[in-house]
Amino acid sequence: MIPVNEPLFISNEKKYLAKCIDSGWISSEGPFIKEFEEKFSSYIGKKYGITVSSGTAALEVAIGSLGIKPGDEVIIPTFTIISCATAVLAYGGTPVFVDSEPETWNINVNKIEEKITKKTKAIIIVHIYGHPCDMDSIIKIAKKYNLKIIEDAAEVHGAEYKGRKCGSFGDVSCFSFYANKIISCGEGGMVLTDNKKYKERAEMLRNLGFEKKKRFYHHILARNYRMTNLQAAIGVAQLKNIKKLIKIKKENAQKYTERLKGIKGLQLPVEKEWAKNVYWMYGIVLNESTGFNAENFAMKLIKEGIATRPFFYPLHLQPVLKKFIKAGGKYPIAERIAKQGLYLPSGLGLKDWQIKKVCETIRKLLK
Ligand SMILES: *Cc1c(COP(=O)(O)O)cnc(C)c1O
Repeated sequence: MIPVNEPLFISNEKKYLAKCIDSGWISSEGPFIKEFEEKFSSYIGKKYGITVSSGTAALEVAIGSLGIKPGDEVIIPTFTIISCATAVLAYGGTPVFVDSEPETWNINVNKIEEKITKKTKAIIIVHIYGHPCDMDSIIKIAKKYNLKIIEDAAEVHGAEYKGRKCGSFGDVSCFSFYANKIISCGEGGMVLTDNKKYKERAEMLRNLGFEKKKRFYHHILARNYRMTNLQAAIGVAQLKNIKKLIKIKKENAQKYTERLKGIKGLQLPVEKEWAKNVYWMYGIVLNESTGFNAENFAMKLIKEGIATRPFFYPLHLQPVLKKFIKAGGKYPIAERIAKQGLYLPSGLGLKDWQIKKVCETIRKLLK
């Protein structure tokens, strides 16, 4: 079976992990935590990094540090992971959805303004599958309506918009280090910001709301979202290698594109002239004219030993979110790509022969 994803440990992961065990520093108090926070935030280009236990936790802490409260509306793409909505709901806010843009699958910036009301406080933008969002347009809208920007950069470690790294634009930015992300520490996440107030609040929100001056005395409701030193150790080792890991992703994507371009009815990932795509996952969208949708195409591929994953299922159609969201609105692009889109094996350990086999199989199926 060609797996859809696998991590690659070719740095000091084992050595740093052993350091944790030998020194006894295994909790969030250990020294790798600070090192990971400093090195990753400086790599992205933000002043502060606050490690947390997952990308989902990062989004929750981000919403909390911006002070989103019941009655506030937060704009999010409908084509994303449910964590974006649950983070808003965790603070009593209302997620308001925006449809996707058909080429990059990112939030459609031309559809944001019509969703803004007096209650709108922030926008969560999500850079999908490795391709940056159109940041200039988003920043312009945020300025015009005085909205905060949260960047969900879980899928774009190292990607760039006009030469600047994704994750460096938001008032607060969020990363995930789940096993399938470009750099990983098993489970983990980070909140990045330049704002000292947000940073301090984020640190409290990840750690039960403990106050610096008076321990075990609390003004804010918070949970435990701490990362362990063990995870940070792996993170520091992975970060050392990030350039190499991104290079592998890009090369694999180039090989896919080389072999798949020209196949009728197949939409491939793009790289806008202002973007550096890191191709976290190599997504394809099947035209209806092929007679396939993502689901039955994936079944054909799995029979040939090729694992894939469907695209996100749009949030405005999620049963669990129904009672929390504003009804109405049209999201034809997100609905279409959710139905017709899937991503191909994109792991860091992918071999040439595997890419070749995937492409030959797709060509055969679409003939
Ligand atoms: C993976 C991912 C997350 C969630 O990260 P976890 O660490 O799995 O909680 C959030 N947003 C996006 C866009 C993701 O791809």
